[in-house]
Amino acid sequence: MKRFCLILAAGSATRLRAGKNKVYLHLKGKRPLEYTLAAFKSAGCFQGALVVYKEGELEEAKMSAAASGFQNVFFAAGGATRQESAYKGLLALPPDTDIVAVHDGARCFTDPELIRNCVKSCEKFGSGVAGRMSTDTVKRTDREGRFLETLDRREIAFVQTPQVFRYQELLSAYQKAVEEGFSATDDAGIMEYAGYAPRLVESQGENLKLTYREDFYKGERLLGGSDRIYIGQGFDIHPFAEGRRLILGGVEIEHDKGLLGHSDADVLCHAVTDALLGASGLSDIGELFPDTDDKWKDANSLELLAQVVERILKRGYQVINVDATVFLEKPRLSPYKKTMEEKLSAVLQTDHVNVKAKTMEGFGAVGGGQAAAASAICSIRRRDAVIFA
Ligand code: MG
Repeated sequence: MKRFCLILAAGSATRLRAGKNKVYLHLKGKRPLEYTLAAFKSAGCFQGALVVYKEGELEEAKMSAAASGFQNVFFAAGGATRQESAYKGLLALPPDTDIVAVHDGARCFTDPELIRNCVKSCEKFGSGVAGRMSTDTVKRTDREGRFLETLDRREIAFVQTPQVFRYQELLSAYQKAVEEGFSATDDAGIMEYAGYAPRLVESQGENLKLTYREDFYKGERLLGGSDRIYIGQGFDIHPFAEGRRLILGGVEIEHDKGLLGHSDADVLCHAVTDALLGASGLSDIGELFPDTDDKWKDANSLELLAQVVERILKRGYQVINVDATVFLEKPRLSPYKKTMEEKLSAVLQTDHVNVKAKTMEGFGAVGGGQAAAASAICSIRRRDAVIFA
């Protein structure tokens, strides 16, 4: 018996918006495609694997294959759709292949036992398609989401991969589909069109496919990854001056003077920004937005904070909470605190933002009303090794 697996890795992954093919993103130090190939290797029933790659990504595909430890991996360029890629892959397989297991490269935690069961089912019945019966009630809806009909869930299966078929049968089913302009979103659909009734092989575990960011986090938990927490702190002080607006936490405060600075001198935003930069190990606000650069003159500090948040999110961090204190003698901030918290929450993408206000009881420059200061502490979480380019 000559068995091959055909791994589809030519997708565009538009739903993830990662700027990169998801099968090459890093998941705990490895590419998802490596996990996929390693699973098929440990299934132990394939002579080789064919990876269908996307134009320009052959090197990445080769590196993943080498790292997976799977011997005898070869490669074929994919097409514009899943169907086209699968067909190109089938044409590139050795003509004397008996059985082919088609699999989505991003479904990288497939249990080798499930793979073997699908192959066994194919050897016995001519097909074996991984999937699970619905445990939820299933309804047909119209486009507005109104229910039209309740379907019998005992007749509903959610289909995954691997999908294993006899090579010649699948190849001719694909040829028929191509000739007749039929398209389907999976291989079983192509086989159904050609008159077959493929068989379900129930998957027990999750058989997770990486589609959304959450799936990467889930994958990481499956691999035993744990979140790492970092704490940062920031402090800032600015003098009061006539003829300036007083902006704190992105909110304009009614007062007869404002804080003086190169930007809008929002001490609260500056302290929070520095806390985030500190927690993520990215230097400080003065380095990122130097006051010698005219670009940042009168800059909106809430927007600068948003830029920093964007930067740390890209590095795989997430803000957990921020706690800040503004030190100033006048005016009273209590009427503004809620709005400040809301503005900061929106930018920081967390509900856990707390702003406090303190006077200095008349002591020092702040107590004398010549300056305002702010301090902030934050915690951020690193989703270990999940890097979105
Ligand atoms: Mg400042």
